[in-house]
Amino acid sequence: MQNVVIIGSGPAGLTAAIYTARANLKPVLIQGAHAGGQLTLTTEVENYPGFRHAILGPDLITEMRAQAERFGTEFIAGDVTSVDLKTLPLHVTVEGEQTIDTKTLIIATGASAIWLGVPGETVLMGHGVSSCATCDGFFFRGQELVVVGGGDTAMEEANFLTRFASKVSVVHRRDKLRASKIMQDRAFKNEKIAFVWNSVVEEILGKGVVTGVRLRNIVTGHISELKCAGVFVAIGHSPNTRLFEGQVEMDGRGYIVTKHGMATNVPGVYAAGDVQDIHYRQAITAAGSGCMAAMDAERYLEGLG
Ligand code: NDP
Repeated sequence: MQNVVIIGSGPAGLTAAIYTARANLKPVLIQGAHAGGQLTLTTEVENYPGFRHAILGPDLITEMRAQAERFGTEFIAGDVTSVDLKTLPLHVTVEGEQTIDTKTLIIATGASAIWLGVPGETVLMGHGVSSCATCDGFFFRGQELVVVGGGDTAMEEANFLTRFASKVSVVHRRDKLRASKIMQDRAFKNEKIAFVWNSVVEEILGKGVVTGVRLRNIVTGHISELKCAGVFVAIGHSPNTRLFEGQVEMDGRGYIVTKHGMATNVPGVYAAGDVQDIHYRQAITAAGSGCMAAMDAERYLEGLG
């Protein structure tokens, strides 16, 4: 029987691991199919305190993981395929094979990119359609690209892609960006970035590889085509909570509801990071909530005697 099982290996899960390991609870952390989470898909992180010259997202994760390992966290590779939280002990099954019994569970499964759901998107994924500029930008040297979205992620992706692309068109469904002021200013100042306002992508065009997008202006209804070699979708994220449906209380958008610190409605089950946070969604807030979940779990275990 384990004291603490943590699902997820982003900043929330790894911070929970550091704290519970230092509390001598010998945490078991199940990494998930995409170890390290969303930070592994970003470039420079400029707003995580302690790194005045910025740190690369993957490097930040590597450091956190090493820190969690140093205090004795046990890492298990693979995905959790089911959980049973109805009775104590809690049961967590990994890859349909290994079932782990635990007194407490910290859910830190994060969130994943949302896709447009338009024709051409699925079939051209990996052939010009992407949600990760860091991963795929390099392939588009000297070519024209489209970024869809008006938030910080879209601005970050657009700016990053100008390192490779000859031109980046940001397609946004309104005439105002949602992104923070500093990210907006950076994008507006970048001569390689153009904005296509009040427009949505209706179809991603191309046979085998992306050759363009069909756009609809939502004010005028005008349909146009824009040539490009790649489409980077940056329209937000949804929480990775399917595994817990019907077992843990969630809000209307599928985010886990936490109360009294990071506790869920199930005794001994805590949630941290983007899986329970629609508002802040920052590496630092994820790490902070991972710390809180760890301390909450520790107190709960003390209460069990
Ligand atoms: P956001 O939810 O902030 O922005 C999503 C954008 O996509 C919005 O502009 C939205 O339009 C648009 N959008 C949503 N759905 C569709 C759709 N179906 N079709 C077309 N457009 C659509 O998500 P982000 O991923 O940008 O950011 C998430 C969080 O992470 C934010 O809190 C952000 O501040 C933070 N972040 C911070 C960074 C940093 O500080 N360096 C970097 C990246 C993210 P509309 O505006 O009309 O709603």
